[in-house]
Amino acid sequence: MYVAKYLHRGAFYPRTTSLKFTRSRAHMSFSFTRSVTFASFFSSQCTHASSLTRSSLERRRSHRSSSSSNHKRIFIANASHPTEEKEKKTRKKIVVVGAGWGGWGAAKALLESNECEVILLDGLKDPTGKCGQKTASGKPFESGVRGFWKDYPNITHLCTNTLGLREDEVFTEFTRSSFFSPDGLEATAPVFSGADVMQLPSPLGQVFATFDNFKRLPLQDRATMVGLLYAVLDLNRNERVFEKYDRATAHELFTKCGLSERLVEEFLKPTLLVGLFKPPEELSAAVTMELLYYYALAHQDSFDVRWIKSKSIGELIIAPMAEMLMDKYELNVKGGCFAKSLHLDSEKNAIDKVTYFDTTSKREVVIDDVDGVVLALGAKGLKSVVSNSPELARNAPELTAAASLGAIDVVSVRLWLDKYVATDTPANVFSRFPALRGAGGTFFMLDQLQKDTENELWGGQETPKGSVVACDFYNSSAIATLSDEDIVKTLTKDLLPEAVEAFRDAGVVDFCVQRYPQAVSHFSPGSFTKRPPLQTSVPNVVCAGDWVRMGDREFGAKGLCQERAFVSGIEAGNALLLETLGPSRSEGKKHPVIPIRADETQVEIGRAVNATVLGNLEDSLLGPLFFPKDGAFNVFGLR
Ligand SMILES: Cc1cc2nc3c(=O)[nH]c(=O)nc-3n(C[C@H](O)[C@H](O)[C@H](O)COP(=O)(O)OP(=O)(O)OC[C@H]3O[C@@H](n4cnc5c(N)ncnc54)[C@H](O)[C@@H]3O)c2cc1C
Repeated sequence: MYVAKYLHRGAFYPRTTSLKFTRSRAHMSFSFTRSVTFASFFSSQCTHASSLTRSSLERRRSHRSSSSSNHKRIFIANASHPTEEKEKKTRKKIVVVGAGWGGWGAAKALLESNECEVILLDGLKDPTGKCGQKTASGKPFESGVRGFWKDYPNITHLCTNTLGLREDEVFTEFTRSSFFSPDGLEATAPVFSGADVMQLPSPLGQVFATFDNFKRLPLQDRATMVGLLYAVLDLNRNERVFEKYDRATAHELFTKCGLSERLVEEFLKPTLLVGLFKPPEELSAAVTMELLYYYALAHQDSFDVRWIKSKSIGELIIAPMAEMLMDKYELNVKGGCFAKSLHLDSEKNAIDKVTYFDTTSKREVVIDDVDGVVLALGAKGLKSVVSNSPELARNAPELTAAASLGAIDVVSVRLWLDKYVATDTPANVFSRFPALRGAGGTFFMLDQLQKDTENELWGGQETPKGSVVACDFYNSSAIATLSDEDIVKTLTKDLLPEAVEAFRDAGVVDFCVQRYPQAVSHFSPGSFTKRPPLQTSVPNVVCAGDWVRMGDREFGAKGLCQERAFVSGIEAGNALLLETLGPSRSEGKKHPVIPIRADETQVEIGRAVNATVLGNLEDSLLGPLFFPKDGAFNVFGLR
């Protein structure tokens, strides 16, 4: 990896520094002299998070000095007032493993209850996002460009109400996006909520608003989409029906719904490749329908999307949240620390210790007296933790099932060009290009999205010379085998200029390529019952993340989705509070979750009618002859 290699070689001048200190907090079963590379020393200075929580006393002092060193923090943490120590002992000690949106949601819910101290572990050097990731030449880089759709109420609330940020400081306006194929521009998605756009019930509103936006796909092909509307109404009739849709591939459902081959090949397949990062033949029909409904069909403006306005999501949203949680509560963020195993106390059927590997000290560390654990990991991370935790694997079969699921590779590229390329829209999709080698692809014009802070896109030192383009490849196992230079060549010769001719004259001033193997949840056919549940057979272990099944706490945001991951974390935190504190002590301590907008009336009526009609038919005298006994009949004959 371009950047990773550099970090280990040049950027932080690997030399060894010895930091000697003793930790006396009762719950940490270690006391050692450690050697750290300058890289990690830099990162702990920079993150202010990397090793210790702030004691209340320090919090009071932090107004005076915001740049206290780790040494000072340790000293002060050990010098807590006796009442603070007493308070601390009654607090539950929770380890959150994984600092994605799921992990942060859980940490927030647990800390804000004022009943827990949280140790948040992540393999990333700076999970607090404060430092931002930099390339070898000091330019900013982010692992994939991620949009914020219209129905992300909890993330929006976090930014505006909790962190007091202005929406227009954090997010761009909602933007249009374009779809390119080897034949040229295929379609443009408008902003559906614009003041000049008439608002209609779904899906009429979407049909009218996009009537002229498809440049090639004939109307008769688009009209076959109507078959999917019935599946939307039927999908959640009951759990068994849902599982049947889940076992089918999206491709099978599309065929059974009568969608035209051209609609699938030219529109739905590329859309799914950038929405769920796999083609329809490798996706669960149930999750595909959930995604299409949530992002496109629920309301006319469901597809409206906006982007981060400057820097990165880490710097703009996660960093202030981390700062706020560390200032106000007992949060200890441990960057560069991989959870290795969970120890189960078999008598209590509870996890009591977590072992992690600290990449800075190159040591294994045990956290003991643990009251609860949130596993906020993807499939790859879960596999590694569960396979190193034999008692947990024995007692929680659902975690071994989840650990058996696959995940998807992503490659992210950033290009700094020597001329400005004007594109119609800042967000763009590559569709059906042979050069994609089966991947989905997107490109984002950062010089348009982050125009107010253009200098920062060039690292703040260099004068901007042209466009800065962020390109992501999803389902990118084939692309990932190419060298960095070949990936850049593929983009600059075979993809970008084929979409927008003006890219042909642009030279590359600088680039960065990063590979993220097995980084994203794969919603494969039949995976639903194997996905991790929010609560597990080991009561003090809960799961968070975009792939978690939330049961009766299920939330409206679906698919690969930051909002879903964040809410799953909040719900996991709430569930653990109830488990560890008991009903009376956890009363009134639950972190609230804001629901997404209600379904429109026509959808509610359609669902009720479908359920009643099918229910009556199943109960009729002829029912046993025509309908399977499981109460999960569906018109598509899915089994
Ligand atoms: C390129 C790309 C583009 C995307 N675009 C969008 C978008 O436009 N809009 C949108 O809403 N969503 C988008 N997503 C999806 C969204 O980012 C995810 O759904 C969401 O971030 C998942 O959060 P999570 O907490 O479930 O998992 P993650 O963010 O994957 O968090 C898991 C964390 O666990 C850590 N970890 C793993 N193993 C260990 C271990 N052993 N010990 C400690 N830590 C460990 C990892 O470092 C990671 O930080 C995109 C994703 C990618 C990759």
